[in-house]
Amino acid sequence: MPLLQAEEVTVSFGGRRALDTVSLAAEAGRVTGLIGPNGAGKSTLFDVVSGLRRPRGGRVRLDGRDITREGPARRARRGMSRTFQHLELFGRLTVRDNLLVAAELGPERRHAARTADAVLTRLGLTDRADEPADALPTGLARLVEVGRALVLRPRVLLLDEPAAGQDAEETERFAALLRSLAADGTAVLLVEHDMGLVMSVCDEVYVLDLGAVVACGPPARIQQDKTVLAAYLGE
Ligand code: ADP
Ligand code: MG
Repeated sequence: MPLLQAEEVTVSFGGRRALDTVSLAAEAGRVTGLIGPNGAGKSTLFDVVSGLRRPRGGRVRLDGRDITREGPARRARRGMSRTFQHLELFGRLTVRDNLLVAAELGPERRHAARTADAVLTRLGLTDRADEPADALPTGLARLVEVGRALVLRPRVLLLDEPAAGQDAEETERFAALLRSLAADGTAVLLVEHDMGLVMSVCDEVYVLDLGAVVACGPPARIQQDKTVLAAYLGE
């Protein structure tokens, strides 16, 4: 059974359907990609999965359990954690303190400092730990945002455009991080516009267009899919 399942999720904003019976599964130990043009509904689906928005229809399941009516804090305690497309860092706090504030809410809160330092090491951010977050270039600030999710030791990690603003070298390191998180058993759900990253790192890719899943499958198949090329890549 997939760790995370969205089943026929429907969301409307003022009568306009942002998501129309969208179903998706994310498995432990795999990186699942979610791509599609701006406005396709990717962030809205993350909101539904993480509990920030109640869907008009459909369900969200974790380990098969229906969690559709649970709030975001409860879902976080169950091991779900996310980043935001728009950065949500405390700009004047140091990088380390940004992680500490999050770690103090997590399952390892009694060892928050140790947990924060372990994640800083894993992200290669130890050298920047004492700088205020808003002094970092965007690519590194995105990593801090990922770090804030990682100190919660998630089983399901939702990443909303984490590589935006990263240069080629940062993106390559980030790809390796995603694979190592999957190797640890995490279910990673990745929204990303960098197709090179998505196609190299994902085990499976869902394509969303106008609030509906138009294709899903392994990267090699998605890159050949005529519907995808037409709807998304504009070819
Ligand atoms: P994506 O992340 O794929 O770019 P979004 O999930 O942000 O897409 O948006 C999907 C659609 O829902 C868009 O048409 C967007 O304008 C609309 N939308 C998103 N959030 C809101 C909101 N809070 N109120 C009204 N419309 C919204
Ligand atoms: Mg978005």
